[in-house]
Amino acid sequence: MTVAKVIEALPGLAWTTDPALVRQKSRDFFWYSPVLKRQLNKVTGEALVTPRDEAELRALLAASYAHGVPVTPRGAGTGNYGQAMPLQGGIVLEMTSFNRVLWAKPGLVRAEAGIKLIDLDAETRRAVGGELRFHPSTKRTATLGGFIAGGSSGIGSTTFGILREPGNILGLKVMTMEAEPRVLELRGADINPVNHAYGTNGVITELEMPLAPAWDWVDVVVAFPTLMGAARFCDAFTRMDGVAKKLACVVPAPLPQDHFKYWGAKVPPGHSVACIMVAPPFLDVIEPIIASHGGAVVHQEASDAAEVPLYEHSWNHTTLQVLKTDKGITYLQTLFPAPGHLDLIAKLERKFGDEVLLHLEFVRFGGTVCAFGLQIVRFTTEERLAEIIRLHEENGAPIFNPHAFTLEDGGMKRVDQEQLDFKRKADPKGLLNPGKMAAWDDPDWKPGKAQSVHLYETDYEAPAEVLE
Ligand code: FAD
Repeated sequence: MTVAKVIEALPGLAWTTDPALVRQKSRDFFWYSPVLKRQLNKVTGEALVTPRDEAELRALLAASYAHGVPVTPRGAGTGNYGQAMPLQGGIVLEMTSFNRVLWAKPGLVRAEAGIKLIDLDAETRRAVGGELRFHPSTKRTATLGGFIAGGSSGIGSTTFGILREPGNILGLKVMTMEAEPRVLELRGADINPVNHAYGTNGVITELEMPLAPAWDWVDVVVAFPTLMGAARFCDAFTRMDGVAKKLACVVPAPLPQDHFKYWGAKVPPGHSVACIMVAPPFLDVIEPIIASHGGAVVHQEASDAAEVPLYEHSWNHTTLQVLKTDKGITYLQTLFPAPGHLDLIAKLERKFGDEVLLHLEFVRFGGTVCAFGLQIVRFTTEERLAEIIRLHEENGAPIFNPHAFTLEDGGMKRVDQEQLDFKRKADPKGLLNPGKMAAWDDPDWKPGKAQSVHLYETDYEAPAEVLE
C-alpha cells in the first residue's frame, strides 16, 4: 500500500486513518447535485493528514511524490462541485492548521490559507477597520485558501466583482508537488493558473488580499409584488455607486414564504423579495428608490446581531435553506450577461414558470452590472436537467454547470491553457487532486465529452448530510 509507505516515512505528522473519519473528510457539498451524488457518493480517501507548518507540508508532498500517491488539498470541505473529494483515493490534506494572520495594514492583509474567513474578517476589522472585499455565503465555516482554489464570488460582489478580476487577489504563495517541492510567490496575472484550480496546481500556503472598509452592515428585506419588480430594484441599487453595499439578491415567491424560517412569514403571499446589505449612513438614501420601485421593507436588523445573517439566505445558501424543507429541488449557476440581463430574466421566467425559480444575485462583473442566477430547479430526471441547461444556453444564459466535477465542465467549458501549462511544472506526475482537470487526463477533451475517471470507492453507508 503506497499510502502506508508515506505514513511510515513521516510518522511524526498528524495522521488520521480511521476509515469513518477519513470518509467524512473526503466529502463536501457535492450531494447538492443529484448527478454528483449518484457519481461520487462512495468516493473516499485512504488517510487524512493535517500538516502544522511549511516543513511538514514539504516533507508530505516530497514523500507522496516519491511513492506516486494522490494528494487532495482541503479547507473546510464546503465546495459544492465535489472539488475537495479525492476521486482517486490517496491522502486528504487538511490545511486548517495554516490559520494565522501574518500582517494587516490599512486596505491589505496577508494570511495563511487555512484560516477561516470569519476569523480573518474579525481580526482585520479589529486591527485596521477592514474586511475582505467579498466572501462566500459559507463565511462562517469556509477557509481563505478554499475560497481562492474552489470559489469565485459572493457577498460584496455587488461592488467588487469576482475573484478573477485583476486586483482582487494581490499575492499568493504556493508549494509545488515535485521530488523537491518549491515555494513560488506569485503576483498579478501570474496568480491566474492557481486561482480557481481546485488545488490541482499546487498547495496554497499564503494569500495577500485587498480589504474594504468594514461597515456595521444592515440586513434589509424588501418585498415586491413581482419578481421583475425586485429584479429591477436590485439592478438600480447595484448601479448606485455612491451607496456602500454588499448584497443585492432576489428570491422569488414562494421560496421565502415556504422555506425561510427566520423572516419568511413577514413576506406577503405571492411577493418576491430583494435581500440587500447596506451601510447605515445610506439607509435614508435608498428609501425613495425602494418606494419608487413599489417595494416595502418587511425586515431589517443589524447583520452582526442576526441569528441567521441575511447572507445565509443568499448565493448558494438560498439553495441550502430550500433543501432543508424540500429535498426534491436542485439548482443551476448561470450568467445573465449585460446589457440584456433583465429582458433575459423576464423571458426565462415566462418560459420555465415554477420549474425554474429565478433566484438572482446582482453583481458588478467586468465593470458593468449584470446578474448571476442560482435558480432553484424542481428536479425530475437528469435528462430534463440537461435539457433545462441546454435551453438556457440556447437563450444566451451560459451555465457554470454545478452538476459536473471537472474544472472545465463546471466552468467556462474550454481548456484553460495557462492552468494546464502551469500544472506541467507544478505537478508533473498529476498527483494533486487527480480527475478534476479534464484536459490533463484527456488531451482530446471537448465540452460535454464523458470523463472516464477511475474512482476510488468503498461500499459504506453514507453519513447523513449536514444541513445546518
Ligand atoms: P474546500 O471545499 O475544502 O475546497 C475547495 C477547493 O479548494 C478544493 O478543490 C480543494 O482541493 C481546494 N483547496 C482548499 N484549500 C486549498 C489550498 N490551501 N491550496 C490549494 N487548494 C486548496 N462559493 C462561492 O464562491 N460563493 C458563495 O457565495 C458560495 N456559497 C456557498 C454556499 C453553500 C451553502 C455551499 C455549500 C457552498 C458555497 N460556495 C460558495 C462554495 C464554497 O463554500 C466556497 O467556495 C468556499 O470558499 C470553499 O472553501 P472551503 O474551505 O470549504 O474549501
